[in-house]
Amino acid sequence: MDAQKKNVIVMDLALNKDLNLSFDEIELQMRAYAQEYKVPIIQDAGLAFLEMILRLYQPHTILEIGTAIGYSAIRMAHTIPASIVTIERNEEMVEQALKNIHLAKLDNRIKLIFKDALECFDDLKNQKFDLIFIDAAKAQYLNFFELFTPLLTEHGVVVCDNMSFHGLVLDPECYSKQSRSVRGLIRKLNHFKENLLQNSKFDTSIFNIGDGMAVSVRKG
Ligand code: SAH
Ligand code: MG
Repeated sequence: MDAQKKNVIVMDLALNKDLNLSFDEIELQMRAYAQEYKVPIIQDAGLAFLEMILRLYQPHTILEIGTAIGYSAIRMAHTIPASIVTIERNEEMVEQALKNIHLAKLDNRIKLIFKDALECFDDLKNQKFDLIFIDAAKAQYLNFFELFTPLLTEHGVVVCDNMSFHGLVLDPECYSKQSRSVRGLIRKLNHFKENLLQNSKFDTSIFNIGDGMAVSVRKG
């Protein structure tokens, strides 16, 4: 999206009474939008877990891969005073996310990059992140992990959502009933999981919370 278009969205919003919505109202609006348009925002239990990790680790800088409508980024920014960079490649999602970030008055702490995350390394290569939250295309998790973990600070943390892929990864019987493309995704997620658990530079635990969350802490 060009800068002009972005300005138009922000200007429209400046005239909008929605600017005085409370955080709870904005959150409700986002959840209703996600439900209506089937946007896969993080599940409540997964979010509670992520927020607990944020409170414990207190990261100053967060990189999120997969913004969607900005729900998880806004919730993270509401939980702790971190700066967040979040990446999204889908223009409709970007428009919604910009709107929501603005309504939540978090423009100063959440920076959105409208690009494919796999093409973003150069934009970010001079930055460091205390926490990376991976929540985009499941087939690309290993690529995201390898591309962005060099930007982690010492003892930085990587959290990956949807490690169970709606329960399918754990259930062999379900697996056989899936389409070829879904089976391909499940295989890739399993491969990523094995890779994570074997990666000697990180201590990884996988939790059966929400849709499955992996937490990988970089060793010193
Ligand atoms: N984190 C969000 C949900 C993200 S849903 C929340 O919990 O609120 C996954 C999003 O990742 C989708 O909007 C999709 O467009 C985006 N995505 C998938 N692959 C991507 C990629 N390679 N680069 C950037 N965004 C990607
Ligand atoms: Mg998710």
